[in-house]
This record gives sequence, C-alpha cells and structure tokens, in this order.
Amino acid sequence: MKIPFQNRDLVRYVRRRDALRLIGYALWVALLIGGALSYNHNHQTYPDYRRMVGWRMAIWVLAAVASGFLIFRIWRFFTDRTFSGTIVTSALSRSYSASNDPGEGTDYDFRLNTYLKVRTDQGKLRRIRFEQKPGFYLYYHEGNRVTHFHGLPYPVNTDPDASHGCVCSACGTHSKALVDRCPVCDHSIIDPKNI
Ligand SMILES: [Zn+2]
Repeated sequence: MKIPFQNRDLVRYVRRRDALRLIGYALWVALLIGGALSYNHNHQTYPDYRRMVGWRMAIWVLAAVASGFLIFRIWRFFTDRTFSGTIVTSALSRSYSASNDPGEGTDYDFRLNTYLKVRTDQGKLRRIRFEQKPGFYLYYHEGNRVTHFHGLPYPVNTDPDASHGCVCSACGTHSKALVDRCPVCDHSIIDPKNI
C-alpha cells in the first residue's frame, strides 16, 4: 500500500523529510568524528591519554552514532510503517464533545498530543501519536477504519461515511467537507476512495 499517485506532492513531502533526516544524521556524525580527528591532528605532540585514540575514539564514535540516532529519530525508518486498521482506543481530548453530552464536564482540557490505538489488519496493536488539532473529535472515532502512511503524521479515515470531513495528512487541519487541497499548507488531501 502506497500514498495514492494523485497525491504526488505528499510523496515528495515524505521523501524530502526522510532525506533531510538522513542528511542531518550523516552531518551530525561527520561533524563529531571530524572534530575529534582534527583535534588529534592539532595535538599530535600530546600523550595518548589526552588524545582521542583507541577506546576513547571508539566510545566517541559510538556516542556520535547513538546520539544522532535519537536526535534525528532514525529508528522511525524501521518502526514507522504504512498500515491499515480499526481504531480501538482514541485518547482524543473529550472536551470538544462536551456540548453534545450534558453529563460531560465543560472544562477546557485540550491535549497537545494524542494517540490512537489501532488494530491492524494483521491483528497487531499499533499506536499512532500526533499533535491534536481542532475538529479531530469529528474525524477519529473508535471503530472507524484508518490508514497510516509512513512519514505522514496524520492517518486517513477510510470509513465510507463522508460526514466526518477530512484531515490534512501533513499538517492535521480538519475540513468539514472533503476538499482537494489543505486550506492551510496547500498539500493535497488523500481521498479515501483512492487508497
Ligand atoms: Zn495541511
């Protein structure tokens, strides 16, 4: 399953972000190792225990590789896969539905980040984390089917019911009707019919 060909700009968006992440990682590692090498080069008369040689260099290289792995989120190349499934649990803030439910408190407790727990078609449980935006309570319902694409933060609701509108996969802006392009970032909107 791939991003539909109608959404070429989103394919480019994902490729660009992945490439920038890899380039950033490579630069980070090169900078740290290059720094150590140039330090050694400039301090050739120092005794070995004051230079980056042997196990000191090995630990330094390891630290550069590991810290870059975390900073540039390289693990997501392995864990962030495309999948479809059904929303089991939605941790969306419920405050937005307070007006529909008199029993609910009216306190404004909007969460910055939220997650969906999704049972994939292969039966696995996956979590998708993303920043919560207004309108999501209309869009991500427990029991709905969603498709998550590698590199796109916001999954697409593929339920045939069009009344929930659409969400931009790149920036998360919710539109009440299905639109062609995102009114905020101008990326194309994935039409569930094309998935
Ligand atoms: Zn957008």
